[in-house]
Amino acid sequence: MKQGDSKEELLGSVHNIARQDYCVDAPVEVALTPQEKRFLLVAERGDCATVRKMLDELKDQPEVFNINCVDPLNRSSLIAAIENENIELINILLEYNIQVKDALLHAIKEEYVEAVEILLEWEEKIHVHGQPYSWEAVDRSSSTFTPDITPLILAAHMNNYEILKILLDRGATLPMPHDVRCGCDECVASSEHDSLRHSQARINAYRALSSPSLIALSSRDPLLTAFELSWELRRLSTMEAEFRADYNVR
Ligand SMILES: [Zn+2]
Repeated sequence: MKQGDSKEELLGSVHNIARQDYCVDAPVEVALTPQEKRFLLVAERGDCATVRKMLDELKDQPEVFNINCVDPLNRSSLIAAIENENIELINILLEYNIQVKDALLHAIKEEYVEAVEILLEWEEKIHVHGQPYSWEAVDRSSSTFTPDITPLILAAHMNNYEILKILLDRGATLPMPHDVRCGCDECVASSEHDSLRHSQARINAYRALSSPSLIALSSRDPLLTAFELSWELRRLSTMEAEFRADYNVR
């Protein structure tokens, strides 16, 4: 956009506000400044020295630079660092207080154990009691993961023993799907709001509970647990029509 083109800028900003307020599913596009484009590029390349230099030089220029900027695919420099398994870059970005958002879930999806540990330590440091965790507080319109995907559920889907152990040792709790016929307020509200997502959340929880690594780590009698689960899944496959095939393959 041309500098000084105030009419277009104004229209642009009105457009963004409207989308933010009325259309929660559309990601809000914010134009990147040249500095931000360069920053994302050097972060993607893993050039830690230049990243640090830019962060030092630009830290007092919020009008042209935001460390939390994202590329058109909604990837921040931190997500790039995780996907490229660059621990040094992750540490630099945390040092400059980048917002971690759902970075922990990305690290779990990449099965990047070292980053999982660093991000969990970071979360313990910044989490305020009674407030949602970073990965819960993300803007749903721009999130890669649905709200029912917790770190433990995702690690169980990856069936990653090491990450599951780290999470359980830190007190993560197992998902407790309510009965398919449950009539509690939470289930009724969730089902009325979006019944497909409600069913999807249930299958995500059961897929996690059937992770062999999770059963081995959490059950006193893994064989019995596996049998009970398979019986429960067979029952669900007859009741949750949309996901019959998913329940049956297990
Ligand atoms: Zn319920």
